[in-house]
Amino acid sequence: MPVAAGRTADAALVSHTGVALTRATTFRFTLDVTSEQHQRLLAHAGASRLAFNHHLARVKANLDQRAAERTYGVPEEDLTPALSWSKVSFINHMNAWKDGRAVDAPVNHDGSRGLPWRGEVSTDVFETASVHAAQALANWAASRNGARAGRVVGFPRFKSRHKTTPAFRLRAKYPEGAAPPVRPTGPKAMRFPKLGELGVRESTRRLRRLLQQGRFHAYAAAFRYERGRWVVSVTGVAAPFHPARRTTTGRHRARVGVDLGVKTLALAADEHGNLRGTWEGVKALHTAQARLKLANQRYSRTKRDSNGRKKAARRLGKLHARVAAVRKALLHQITADLAKGYACLVVEDLNTAGMLANRRLARVVSDAAFAELRRQLEYKSSWYGTELVIADRWFPSSKTCSGCGSIKADLTLADRTYRCDSCGLAIDRDVNAAINLARYTEPPPRSSPPQHVAA
Ligand SMILES: [Zn+2]
Repeated sequence: MPVAAGRTADAALVSHTGVALTRATTFRFTLDVTSEQHQRLLAHAGASRLAFNHHLARVKANLDQRAAERTYGVPEEDLTPALSWSKVSFINHMNAWKDGRAVDAPVNHDGSRGLPWRGEVSTDVFETASVHAAQALANWAASRNGARAGRVVGFPRFKSRHKTTPAFRLRAKYPEGAAPPVRPTGPKAMRFPKLGELGVRESTRRLRRLLQQGRFHAYAAAFRYERGRWVVSVTGVAAPFHPARRTTTGRHRARVGVDLGVKTLALAADEHGNLRGTWEGVKALHTAQARLKLANQRYSRTKRDSNGRKKAARRLGKLHARVAAVRKALLHQITADLAKGYACLVVEDLNTAGMLANRRLARVVSDAAFAELRRQLEYKSSWYGTELVIADRWFPSSKTCSGCGSIKADLTLADRTYRCDSCGLAIDRDVNAAINLARYTEPPPRSSPPQHVAA
């Protein structure tokens, strides 16, 4: 039976070959485009930006109008009605606006209404940008009235033509068994709705095979123009791995605490204090970053509009890409090792917003890309049948002594070694934290004093 796929469909999609598709996954391709295709893609990104900004401007004007009326003492019930910020109303308004049916629709030179070029851009672009704008406004509203944890976010920013990375998103709805609108058409070619066939640099073989076997269903394609090239991420759901890859037999049986560190990217230890693995990698990132810094200096010494500057800019772009690639490879390596190597992992619930507020940590946090690491760990654990325990945000994994259980309140980030004042234990800070995580069971009662347990 054909089942329509959608990003919001939570129920498992069953492919035409009878396989349940439950594993969210992404295929990334670098596009090889002609200048004509490049312009076409830019037009799509422009439409996405225009739609997003249009919603923000309309909401802002409405809010300003109501605020102004209030200052003149207009009673609440007589104010200009508030606009609906729901995704559906944004989509409906955008369609009416671009097609010329809305009262505020653009009017062209020849008297026609609506966006004259709307037919050249997929309707999806307008819809996904509308959903994005509604989401940004919802986040802002939730943050403003305290419903959302973390830093207070400002009114969503308008996307500037010059400062925004050109990007847009297409959905790829189709009944299971039909030809997917986003699909490989050759070893190095992909087809997209409205955009037609585009060349890609990577082989499409794996995606092609999965589609043929009914083991993958694409639901969206996100395009981004980064460092002089278009990249497309095809997201969808795939069949789970073969059961042999999901069994935890043959792995470390012990519960393993994973400390996402400051010195090392990750460190795993069991509850008995055995170190189970460390992932360094910070060095590789630093090397790449040092080279980037040099290239930056070289660039700043070149003259405007000179050939030397062009060359330095190209080199800079390449090094930026290199840093990103090193980081990405590192994160995937760590999360795959962890998810495949152990039966049960315990990680901290990182308050990333709070960590970023601490300037000492900010650089390391962005380097290690903690949030991304956590995200990968979550989905890979589910892929490989690994149990993933998230410790309570307030669990003092770093400040607790793994020897006697007493808590050191004045531990600072500069303290690389944990020295216990009660039992005299001296232990690497990250190892100590990992051991505590491995032993984590439930949030400790917050009101009780530190408990001293015999070592
Ligand atoms: Zn102690």
